[in-house]
Amino acid sequence: MAAMIIDGKVSAAKVRGQVADKVAALKAGHGIVPGLAVVLVGEDPASRVYVKNKGVQTLEAGMASFEYKLEAATPEAEILALVARLNADPAVHGILVQLPLPAHVDAASVINAIHPAKDVDGFHISNVGLLATGQKALVPCTPLGCLMMLRDHHGDLAGMEAVVVGRSNIVGKPMAQLLLGDSCTVTLAHSRTQDLGEVCRRADILVAAVGRPEMIRGDWVKQGATVIDVGINRVPSLEDAGKTRLVGDCHFDSCVEVAGAITPVPGAWGR
Ligand code: NAP
Repeated sequence: MAAMIIDGKVSAAKVRGQVADKVAALKAGHGIVPGLAVVLVGEDPASRVYVKNKGVQTLEAGMASFEYKLEAATPEAEILALVARLNADPAVHGILVQLPLPAHVDAASVINAIHPAKDVDGFHISNVGLLATGQKALVPCTPLGCLMMLRDHHGDLAGMEAVVVGRSNIVGKPMAQLLLGDSCTVTLAHSRTQDLGEVCRRADILVAAVGRPEMIRGDWVKQGATVIDVGINRVPSLEDAGKTRLVGDCHFDSCVEVAGAITPVPGAWGR
């Protein structure tokens, strides 16, 4: 029997509604308008789309949006000076510096210059450490969204066998920490993992964050497992020469036959 499809658009709409309600309450109760500053350095097309969407969503939730678009050649010192100004600005409550940054900029220095309380991406070393030690932290949004979908689907995750494929700081590592926080037994796999198929087949929860189109096939999935596909890969269209389509890190058609539940790509990430 084909897997249940986990619809991230529904979850995303619910979260957006909750955020808008909280923003309205802050305005009415305290006269505070939360402000989000987004810093984009350079012309990366995907980053431009992300930044535009963040601005639209911020305004739709009733918050103030501040966008800073800097040229690709902007010196690191200038970016750090902007971050320092935003840290000190009482109208700015959250700061997002869009990654990747140009090669001449040390991304870690810029991220760690953000005040930890305004680090809404959860990439600052203080928030990473708080999450790793099980304390209250600002958490990267992609793994947090995965956790929310998993909790919505399963309720209590305690004791489940979770395998996360991919160990990036943005997705894989915080995903593993969050699942550990919910008392899963967690394996964090990566490009040097031996017998990856065998490791994946152990998973009650399989999270793919690899960046390799359709790498995880159905025969790597345990019968009835929940598969969360974080991957977003653009590949040539099968039907229209010259066009492209989006696929995940999991081969949907084979995984859907084995999994108990699965997130489709596109379609799981609120868009
Ligand atoms: P990343 O920084 O490139 O990390 C990829 C990870 O996958 C690395 O840890 C790498 O292992 C591992 N890997 C690569 N090839 C592998 C293989 N053959 N077998 C096992 N592991 C392998 O990527 P990322 O930023 O985490 O993103 C992963 C995917 O998620 C991408 O498709 C990205 O577009 C997508 N993404 C989606 C969202 C969203 O909102 N849905 C957000 C962020 C990213 P090593 O560490 O050993 O090299």
